[in-house]
Amino acid sequence: MPRRGNKLYEGKAKIVYETEDPHKLILHFKDTVSAFDGLKKERLRGKGSLNNTISSLLFEILESRGVKTHYIQKISDNEMLVWRAERFPVEVVVRNVSAGSILKRLGLKEGERFKKPLVEFFYKNDELHDPLICAEHIEALGLAPVHAVPLMKETALRVNEILGELFAKQGILLVDFKLEFGRLPDGSVGVVDEISPDSMRLWDSRTGEKLDKDRFRYDLGDLLEGYREVLKRLS
Ligand code: UDP
Repeated sequence: MPRRGNKLYEGKAKIVYETEDPHKLILHFKDTVSAFDGLKKERLRGKGSLNNTISSLLFEILESRGVKTHYIQKISDNEMLVWRAERFPVEVVVRNVSAGSILKRLGLKEGERFKKPLVEFFYKNDELHDPLICAEHIEALGLAPVHAVPLMKETALRVNEILGELFAKQGILLVDFKLEFGRLPDGSVGVVDEISPDSMRLWDSRTGEKLDKDRFRYDLGDLLEGYREVLKRLS
């Protein structure tokens, strides 16, 4: 069993530890939830374990369908073993249905399906509040290798197909989600970070009930109840 080494980094929802293998890291999922650049936050016992479990499950499904990711295995309730990656400071968002930040930006109503899935890039930079950028910005600023830009877009759309279908079978609409990418130890580009209801919008297909972090952002109900429902339907 891999053992925790030095703490490399602590973020709002996760801690990253080194291991005895320089190519492998441990992601520890914390029992905290935060929103609006960390202005709103809370501690919720059991949240880290839910995110780790859901994320591990989704990574396993993606890997089995040929999507390259940093995932190696779930090693405990709150911990996942991953390949060490050189992360690109870019967030890739795929939207199927309008919700969240795009509503104000483009004057849209919530809940409208786009004619085709929309891929957006954001510059991951706290000081600048993660501004929207386009592929050309990534290339001009060197935020990721040039060949990685089309690859991130294609992979994000492939992940959308796989997860969209998976959730649809469980009566859940995949509204949107965010992915991060990085260079893995073997030199390839893969999906890193987590894929959980913290980074997706998931609505009950029948009732429209929100089962994701918007419950916390907008006080719509018990966050963990939503996450537990997602896990129950996936397992
Ligand atoms: N998202 C995320 N981390 C971020 C920003 C967005 O995981 O830093 C996810 C968010 O949960 C949603 C999708 O990306 O599923 C699109 O988010 P949006 O741009 O609408 O921003 P938000 O409404 O979260 O501010």
